[in-house]
Amino acid sequence: MINLPVLINSLRCSLLRIESRLLQAAGLDTQLAPGLALNGPSLLPQPDLEHQAEEQQSDEQPPGLFDGILWMAAPKKRRTIEVNRTRRRDERKMLKVQNNIEPCTECGHLKQKHVLCAFCYAKVCRETAVIRQQISAMEGGPLRAPPVETVVLYEGEKPSELDKDKRIVERARKRPAWFSY
Ligand SMILES: [Zn+2]
Repeated sequence: MINLPVLINSLRCSLLRIESRLLQAAGLDTQLAPGLALNGPSLLPQPDLEHQAEEQQSDEQPPGLFDGILWMAAPKKRRTIEVNRTRRRDERKMLKVQNNIEPCTECGHLKQKHVLCAFCYAKVCRETAVIRQQISAMEGGPLRAPPVETVVLYEGEKPSELDKDKRIVERARKRPAWFSY
């Protein structure tokens, strides 16, 4: 919990410090400072004279609120372009050479080893999206799916005995070689 008089006192100290720094920066001497000073309202609590004397004796001023803002860390020297480029083109920041590339056995596109071929995956995604659209058109609305399994049959295929009780979705095309059960 911050004591209110202490807070006001530290605020006043910070403002006085800023005023003196601005005057020094403007080239005005600190002798002009009393001419610019104003009488503060008497509502503000006045610091005790004894307390001030103690402060002067101990020569310790409370840390101002704006000290951290006025003295933030800043680079002291400009880094040359060579140093910057050496840092940016460091070996650790360059792209690594990939040795795990191979052609897909299905379509021949290049792909990473042990990773699904993106081209084949996109093909399957397009086909399943069409099947899903057909199923939603059959159902005619959401939450109307029958509580049975669904089997997709392509042109020239007939339902086997296992597919008796299942819902059948017929596609008007030949089954692609890459699309199996
Ligand atoms: Zn592929």
